[in-house]
Amino acid sequence: MTRISDLLASGPTWSFEFFPPKTPEGMVALHDTVAQLSELAPDFVSITYGALGTTRSTTRDLVVKINDEQSFPAMPHLTCVGHTRQDLVSLLEDYRACGVHNVLALAGDPPADGSDPGGDFTYASELVDLAHEVDGFAVAVAAFPEIHPRSPDRETDRRQLAAKLGQSDFGMTQFFWEVDHYRRMVDELADLGCETPILPGVMPFVNVAGTRRMSAINNCHIPDRLQERLDAVDGDAEATRKLGVEVATDLVAELLELGVPGIHLYAMNRAQSITEIYGNLGLRPDSL
Ligand SMILES: Cc1cc2nc3c(=O)[nH]c(=O)nc-3n(C[C@H](O)[C@H](O)[C@H](O)COP(=O)(O)OP(=O)(O)OC[C@H]3O[C@@H](n4cnc5c(N)ncnc54)[C@H](O)[C@@H]3O)c2cc1C
Repeated sequence: MTRISDLLASGPTWSFEFFPPKTPEGMVALHDTVAQLSELAPDFVSITYGALGTTRSTTRDLVVKINDEQSFPAMPHLTCVGHTRQDLVSLLEDYRACGVHNVLALAGDPPADGSDPGGDFTYASELVDLAHEVDGFAVAVAAFPEIHPRSPDRETDRRQLAAKLGQSDFGMTQFFWEVDHYRRMVDELADLGCETPILPGVMPFVNVAGTRRMSAINNCHIPDRLQERLDAVDGDAEATRKLGVEVATDLVAELLELGVPGIHLYAMNRAQSITEIYGNLGLRPDSL
C-alpha cells in the first residue's frame, strides 16, 4: 500500500495526469500511453473525474486497473458537488477495498447553466473530512496559484486554501505560465503558517485555441511573450506541440531549481511530449 504522502518525503516526485477516454479506441491508446510512460518510472499517476460524476465508472475502473497492474499507484480525482454523502462513502469504500489509498478531493464545478446540482456537499474541504472519516487515504487537494476563479479576493482565497491544505496531505496546482505565481502562493501560505507540500501542475499544451480557452476559464494569465509565440505557431499542430514541450521544459527546470516537492505533468493521454521533456532535462529513470 503506497501512500503518495510518504513518497513526497524522499521527493521530488514525478507524476502524470490522464483523463478517462470516451471511446474504446481512446481506451486502447491510453493503455498504450501508460505502458510507454511506465518506462519513465513515475512515482504515481492520477485520473480525472468528469464533472458531476459523468465518468464515475470509467475513472474508477481505470484507477483500479492501473493500480493493480503497475508498480506505481494510480490516484483517482473525486468531485463532491452533486453527489450525496452516501454516494461518496460508497465510492471511497470501494476504492479502499480495491487497494486504492490515495484520493484527490475536489469540489468540482456546479452546472454551467446555473441549475442546482443537488447533493450534500459544496466545498472540497467537506470531502476531505469525509475521506478521513472513511479512513485509509492520503488526501490531496487542488490549489490555484492565480487564485480560484470563484474566489472573491486573494486574501479570502489564501485563507480558505490554507485551511483546506491544513486538513490534507498535499496539494496539486492548476497549470500556470510563470513560476512566480507558484512561488508567491507558497510564500503567502507560509505567512499563514501553512507548510503542506504542493506539487506544481505543468501542462505541455498541444493546441493554441484550447490553451487560450483553458487559461481564460482557469484564471491563468498568459504573458505577452507567450501570446506572441502562440500566434507564431497557430495552425501548425506539430510546431504547437513542440512549443508546448519547450515551454513546459523551461517551467519544470525553473521549478526544480526552486526546490519543489515534485512535478505533476498533465500528460493529456499522450506519451510523446512527456518523453521529450524528460529528454530535454536529461532525466533517466535511474537518475530520478
Ligand atoms: C489539480 C486539479 C485537478 C482537477 N481535477 C478535476 C477533475 O478531475 N474533475 C473536475 O470536475 N474538476 C477538476 N478540477 C477542477 C475543480 O473541480 C474546480 O476548479 C472547482 O471549481 C474547484 O474545486 P476545488 O476542489 O478547488 O474547490 P474548493 O476548495 O471547494 O474551492 C472552490 C471555491 O470555494 C471557495 N471556498 C472553499 N471553502 C469555502 C468555504 N468554506 N466557504 C466559502 N467559500 C469557500 C474557495 O476559496 C474557492 O473560491 C481540478 C482542478 C485542479 C487544480
